[in-house]
Amino acid sequence: MIKGKKMLVVSAHAADYVWRSGGTIAKYIKNGAEVHVVVLSFGIRGESNDLWKAEGATAESVKAIRLGETKEAAKTLGITNIEFWDLPDYPMEPALNEEVRERLIRKIREVQPDIILTHDKNGEDILNPDHNAVSRFVFACSIQSNSNGVRIEGTRTTKQMQLYGFEPHQTELSQFVPGSLIDISEVYDQKVAAMKCFKAQGHLIEYYTERAFLRGNHIRRISGNQTYRYAESFSNFFPVAGEELY
Ligand SMILES: [Zn+2]
Repeated sequence: MIKGKKMLVVSAHAADYVWRSGGTIAKYIKNGAEVHVVVLSFGIRGESNDLWKAEGATAESVKAIRLGETKEAAKTLGITNIEFWDLPDYPMEPALNEEVRERLIRKIREVQPDIILTHDKNGEDILNPDHNAVSRFVFACSIQSNSNGVRIEGTRTTKQMQLYGFEPHQTELSQFVPGSLIDISEVYDQKVAAMKCFKAQGHLIEYYTERAFLRGNHIRRISGNQTYRYAESFSNFFPVAGEELY
């Protein structure tokens, strides 16, 4: 049941949440979930190659474009709760310090999410150390958020939430194992429109439309539901736990 669910999405760079979970986000919003997105950086150094080709490009000019693009994409997906933390990228790991740790735990406790979506933890993104650093960081913060001993004034400890990892770009090379396949057919057009907001990474649009098609094949085969056309996949941080086998 999606209605009433609370979801927190933590994206290393400005467009990661769109490529890898834009359909799921749009679907959750459309069906009555509360979705919050934290964009840790604009990916100025690492994921804006085409923008740097413009004559006279500066970090500030690239940032302004990335901010405009990601705001437009978020709007297209129906996202109203989004924050841009503007951390440095490539590398991001040194910026994931004590201050940011407390800020993220505070955010997790404020949202009290049922679900956290972020970068894959189980594999190793072969070409993007920022994604790996963010995955480890978000996982650690989520566990600390659940702990009564981690005292942060004005916050309330969270209950264990489910964490899911984005499918990385180089799926097999990054040892990604799909744990969940989510049908995004009803919002697929919205996802494509959101992806088109990013001018610096136009080559990825074709890749992620093909990926949605491929995962659509997998979800039909595994679920038996032939109405599913497009899907996104996520890794499961934890095993499925409940009273029955699904
Ligand atoms: Zn990224």
